[in-house]
This record gives sequence, C-alpha cells and structure tokens, in this order.
Amino acid sequence: MPLFDPTTEEQSGVLVLAGAEDARWAVESASRALPRWSQSSRHERIDLLNAMADAVEARADALTEATVAEYGGPIAQARWRAGLAATNFRIAANLLKDFTFTRRLNGTEVIAQAAGVALHIVPWNSVYNSISVKMAGALAAGCPVVVKPSEFSPWQVELFTQCLHAADVPAGVINVVTGLGNEVGTALTTDPDVRKISFTGSTAVGKMILQGSAERMQRVTLELGGKAPTIIMDDADLAEAARQALAIGFANNAQACIAGTRILVRRDRLDAFCEAIADAARTVVQGDPRDPRTTLGPLVNRRQFERVLRYISQGIAEGARPVIGGEGRPEGLDRGYFVRPTVFADVSNDMTIAREEVFGPMLCIIAYDDDEGAIRIANDTPYGLHAYILGNDIAGARAIAARLDAGRVAINGMAHEPMAPFGGFKQSGIGREYGIYGIEDHLEFKAVTGATA
Ligand code: NAD
Repeated sequence: MPLFDPTTEEQSGVLVLAGAEDARWAVESASRALPRWSQSSRHERIDLLNAMADAVEARADALTEATVAEYGGPIAQARWRAGLAATNFRIAANLLKDFTFTRRLNGTEVIAQAAGVALHIVPWNSVYNSISVKMAGALAAGCPVVVKPSEFSPWQVELFTQCLHAADVPAGVINVVTGLGNEVGTALTTDPDVRKISFTGSTAVGKMILQGSAERMQRVTLELGGKAPTIIMDDADLAEAARQALAIGFANNAQACIAGTRILVRRDRLDAFCEAIADAARTVVQGDPRDPRTTLGPLVNRRQFERVLRYISQGIAEGARPVIGGEGRPEGLDRGYFVRPTVFADVSNDMTIAREEVFGPMLCIIAYDDDEGAIRIANDTPYGLHAYILGNDIAGARAIAARLDAGRVAINGMAHEPMAPFGGFKQSGIGREYGIYGIEDHLEFKAVTGATA
C-alpha cells in the first residue's frame, strides 16, 4: 500500500500488508506465551514494564519525528504524546506493586486470573498512547498481546515495536500485525484463541466487532468516537473561554475523539463570543508541522481531508454561518491535506454537523438559554466520551458535571489524568481503561469455595 506524507502529498513509502495467515501466526505465538506469562511473577512484570518505559524514553526523539512526518502533528504536541507511552508503562508497574490478585470473602478465595490472549486494535490518531495504555494493562494482568495497528501509522508502529523489542520482552508476549482492518482485523477478531478484544476506533467498526464477538463471547472493550460539548458558563471571561474552547476543539491536530466540537454559549453572549473565537482562530498557525511556530498541521490523509471538506460544505448547505474559515484550502497552502480552521455559528443541535463526528478543524457554536438548557443540549448526542466546562464558578461547574453523560468531564482546561478511568457512555463505547481500570479490564474473576477448610 503506498504511503503519503500529509504535508506534501508526496509518496513517502510503501507498506507491506500482512494477511490472514500472519494473523493466525501472531495469535498462535501469543497462545504459546500464555501459560508462562499468565503465571509470571509480579516482579517480572514490573521489571518488564519499567524496561519498556525506559526503551521508549530512550528513543523519544525518533518517535516524535515519526509522528510529525507520518501524522502531521505539530512537533510540541507530538513530543508530549511520545512521552505518554512511558508514563502508561510506569503507572502500570507502580500499580502492580500492591495490586490484589487474590482476595478472601468469608470462606471463599477470589482469584483474578489473566483473561487470555488479548487483541488490541488501535487507530492512527494516537498511536503510542493507544498501544501502550492497552498493553500496560494487559501485561500487568498476565495477558500476552496481539496488536493490530492502523494501516495509516506503520512508521510510528515499527519504531515503537523496535523500542519494545529492545526491552527484551519474552518471546510471544507482544506480537504486532500490520494490515487492513477488513482482512487482518477480521481474521484476528474471529480467531477463537483471542479471549479479550480491546478496540479503539470508530463507532461503526466497534459495533461490527461487538456483534461478531457474540459468537465466541469474547470480552470486549470499546473506545469509540465522540462529539463532546464545551459549555461556556455565564460567568466565563469570553476571550479566555474562546481561546480555551478553540484549543479543546483543535486538540491533537484537530483529530481527537475527545475534542470539544459543540461549543455551547448563552444566547445573549453569542455575538461577543463569535468575535472572541474568530480573534482566537486568527492566531492559529498552519503549515509545516516541523516548524515550532506551527499550531495546526495537515489532516492525516486524503480521505480525511475530503471528508472534512464535505462536512464544511454540508454545514453551509444546512444554514450554518462560518464565523471564520469555510470551504477550500487555507491561503498559501496549495498542497498538503490542510483544511481552513472553521467555526460555525447559527448551528442547531439537530444539524448533521452537530451530531456526527467530523475529525477535523470544524467546530459548532450552539446557543442555550439557561443551565438546564445547556445540560439538555450537552447530553442530546449519541456519544458520551468527554465534556468540558469553562467558567469561574467551580461549584456550579461541578454541579453541571454531575449531570453530564460523559466518561470524563474537564473543568477549565483539558487536563489528562492517566490514573483515572477513561471510556465512554452511550455510543462512545463500553468499558474503561487507564490505571487500575486497564489492569482489571484484562482479568477474569474466579471464586474458589472451600479453600479455607
Ligand atoms: P477505524 O474504526 O476506521 O479503524 C480503527 C482500527 O480498526 C484500525 O486499526 C483499522 O484497521 C481497524 N479496523 C477497521 N475495520 C475493521 C474490522 N472490520 N475488523 C477489525 N478491525 C478493523 O478508526 P480510525 O479512522 O483509525 O480512527 C478514528 C476513530 O477512532 C474516530 O472515530 C475516533 O473518535 C476514534 N478514537 C477513539 C478513541 C477513544 O479512546 N475513544 C481514541 C482515538 C480515536
């Protein structure tokens, strides 16, 4: 499969795709490793997780460069993301020190047992973090892993795999199979020796995986799409709120499942907010992601580029008004998958652009009349991954947070807490990962009665 540099649109390489036979070998390899790894000692797992953290830290520059070149992510953001992988491994190592694998309940012993061979299917927009957070939980729980990365991130995955190899992982404990979702992905999800599937990607594919798993009753965790609300409270400073709402909306090069893409503003402050966000958007610097001044790089590939442009056209056709941006390419950027940062006003929550995940620099401003209305609109979505609240009244923000149907709610910013559970309500997924939740996600619980006799 040809690969293209998103900044120049030139071919950058060729990916050799694995096939169904490779998928079977990977699962066999993991299955051979299962008896020993599931019985490995706590210390062996801790040492391995720490060695993996050291190995990815040692190559942080190369990992960052791969993200910039392949994904088009601006360099500062790419560096931060490369660092998340080591954090995920170290957190799992630390949690393992006093993780309880066996518990007594009256006369019964409850044993947490490795779920079996774990399949991790991940997307292209957060490669090291998605792979590492799932892998850390699985290895800590005693599960060997098969990773199926996206066909749009092969260079990042190859480098990351080399790092893990350098950490002296026992044979078969980690297996990586490239390839297309509908071939290799399907071969892996339908393999009877895969006992646990953890998938991060689109809601459409997540539903297919969940349906398919029913036949074998595999344990399934799904981290899917989002359409997060950003509620601008009555008392928020508008210039600051606009700056933050834009950063939240354009996070991770405007391709984030957690992006706040529906900005909810009280009706009587709409005009002032539109001016403030247009001012903030004018400070966005698009261009070469290697240039440290760049804040927004290109979209990952032509498919995404065309998809986002279609949504912008659809927004205009539905009657939304661009307060900044719009159709076409940004001025001065006649190559690369660059889209104009676009913010729509006059959006109602039932428009397509307010309901569907766009995955690009396209945000909607939606009016609310009071806090009740803001909460109702925020929750009126098929998704429920994340929500944001901006304002000075923290007690009021917490009261709103308690009523939002979202797996995470961030007040005044987008702080990431890698120990806290992460996952979605409704069609944003099933299950939770990160920290202790990611370890428990790879365990089966077994009760042994009569053990104290
Ligand atoms: P995608 O669903 O197209 O692909 C995700 C992965 O699934 C890829 O590795 C792909 O090859 C594989 N795949 C595709 N079809 C498959 C099939 N039939 N069987 C098995 N595997 C298959 O998603 P994408 O375009 O790579 O990523 C973007 C999506 O991921 C967005 O919807 C985004 O919201 C979501 N995402 C969610 C989270 C989260 O934590 N909730 C994080 C990042 C991205």
